Amino acid sequence: MSKNKTPKKKEQYIPTCIFCKSKPLTLEHVWPQWIEKEFSKEGEDKHIVNNYQTLSQDGSRIRYSSKLLNRHVTRMVVKKVCVSCNSGWMSRIETESKPIIKSLILDESITLTLDEQTKLARWGVLRAIIGEYADAENHKQIISKEERLNFFQTKIPSPKFKIWVGRSLVKEGAWKQFFIHFNAYQSLQNLTLLSPPEPNLQWSLFVKGAFVIIIYWSEIQCDIILPAIISHKLVQIHPLENTSFKYESILSFSEEELEYIRKNLTKHSFAIAHT
Ligand SMILES: [Zn+2]
Repeated sequence: MSKNKTPKKKEQYIPTCIFCKSKPLTLEHVWPQWIEKEFSKEGEDKHIVNNYQTLSQDGSRIRYSSKLLNRHVTRMVVKKVCVSCNSGWMSRIETESKPIIKSLILDESITLTLDEQTKLARWGVLRAIIGEYADAENHKQIISKEERLNFFQTKIPSPKFKIWVGRSLVKEGAWKQFFIHFNAYQSLQNLTLLSPPEPNLQWSLFVKGAFVIIIYWSEIQCDIILPAIISHKLVQIHPLENTSFKYESILSFSEEELEYIRKNLTKHSFAIAHT
């Protein structure tokens, strides 16, 4: 190897913060640490990655792979953000949403106002961005760099995000704490699939106690039709639909329905042109 080339190469690979490009980087938990501190890790702890499917409007699908990893999701860390981001604006997002999330985890009787829905959505987007980096199997972050930088600058998720909250009263087993990340490709046109296209959308799902949040992002700004079996149990919080609602008014998911989400959410949800 030439002596001259080595230092150059090294310089190119110094990792910088995914938001502000600063360094050095610090470890960030996919699930915020306060959740681990305040709630015990009873039951199983599951993490699923890399359920990659190709979808088109005519229903043709190619299924790739899915991996179920048994590891504590609360211990998953990524080294992608700098100290200043982590202890500054990211910490503020965590602080402002913590009391709301705590109530939802414990299934307390609270009303989610528009302001609280906005805070929850902001938290969900931040968790989805960080969570994508923990999905080492995929080696690709679907939420675009432009989207990430826009979120860093404005702290407002774009309409390419769709976020829903749900409620789980499953008391035992795997569904007490869950993180799933799906990548998929979807087109608004019918396609002839000659070769597997690159994924252009992602789903992230976090479950803790009663709290269920689903974060969708696609390159194409579209509306989503969720499977009827679960759609009436999810309330959209982003883009805002302009109503406050009582958390306890959401019909709760059974274990079977959460399993359905795990296996079928990407397969049975369809993007339609945004109107
Ligand atoms: Zn930073």
